[in-house]
Amino acid sequence: MILQDEEKVLEKGKAAQGRKVIHADCDCFYAAVELRDNPDLRGRPLAVGGMPDKRGVIATCNYEAREFGVRSAMASGQALRLCPDLLIVPPRMKHYREVSREIHAIFTDYTDLIEPLSLDEAYLDVSDSERCRGSATLMAKELRQRVRKEVGIVISAGVAPNKFLAKIASDWNKPDGLFVITPDQVDEFVKQLPVSKLHGVGKVTAEKLRKKRIETCGDLRKYSKLELAKWFGRFGERLHELAYGIDNRAVETSRRRKSLSVEHTYDHDLPDIKAVQKEVFPLLESLESRWERISREYLPTKRFVKLKFNDFTQTTLETLLPAGESPFSPAEYQKLFKEAFERKKLPVRLAGIGIRLHDLKPPEGGRQLSLFDE
Ligand SMILES: [Mg+2]
Repeated sequence: MILQDEEKVLEKGKAAQGRKVIHADCDCFYAAVELRDNPDLRGRPLAVGGMPDKRGVIATCNYEAREFGVRSAMASGQALRLCPDLLIVPPRMKHYREVSREIHAIFTDYTDLIEPLSLDEAYLDVSDSERCRGSATLMAKELRQRVRKEVGIVISAGVAPNKFLAKIASDWNKPDGLFVITPDQVDEFVKQLPVSKLHGVGKVTAEKLRKKRIETCGDLRKYSKLELAKWFGRFGERLHELAYGIDNRAVETSRRRKSLSVEHTYDHDLPDIKAVQKEVFPLLESLESRWERISREYLPTKRFVKLKFNDFTQTTLETLLPAGESPFSPAEYQKLFKEAFERKKLPVRLAGIGIRLHDLKPPEGGRQLSLFDE
């Protein structure tokens, strides 16, 4: 029997199903970066992690290594026993962070509502995005293609009306997969979903549920929220919602910005400074439209440009923005590009422009920025 408050939960859930959430997740990220940088190693089992003689553990490994049973968090010594040919390389976190930043920069072309979960995973709320005619599925397809082409990394993506389902979806066709759950597919999809797939259901809870013959979310639905709460406390209430595919958590962008920028990787290198300077106009247009959304929260302090040449070196250049001056002057950006280009005078594969920002919103509990601050 469905109680009245449960009906309310279902209604509330339906309202939240109007969201479009993409969960993007790189496939074995650290290992993928190492293989991208050392293509000769492709095809052999590879892991990133600590050395066995130093009691190291595996951070990530590729699928070739997984076939031998190697897993993340496993002791490197054990991994080598399972797979004697395993090549273990030490992690280069600074480098992975830089690659992650490049991927994130592509995400920001689709939305500003991004919640990073780790270096290689993020939720994107694209409900209000006008890219790809507003289709979240097309956006997920496109961003997968772009990350592969522009960064050389493969990501899997899930598209769904909420975070819970988007995360399950990204895992569904992994690796190199895309899986979409549309709002009208939610009910059928969740019904057959094993409870072990639910976030928070570990071995112990799964065993407890199995003893009650609850294997799928469909089975879970046979019990009222009250009954589930009796067995599992507050988590029982959560289980009840998840059983119906309901998840009202918002995609939360907690990190505050230090800058705002747009960049573009060109299909054909820009041959000279004239070609680079022409690109200022489309870049400025998208920088301005992004700025409009956050302009009340920040104050621009500097202009900057970035160029990546066809030898893969990159250079950035910035100048202070005189008080009261608009940051969006094409001529000023063209000047900066000229100076940056002179440093190498090589064809350009990527050009970007941006502004450095002063945050007008203090962190939680911090002081308000006042006009009378010294
Ligand atoms: Mg991942």
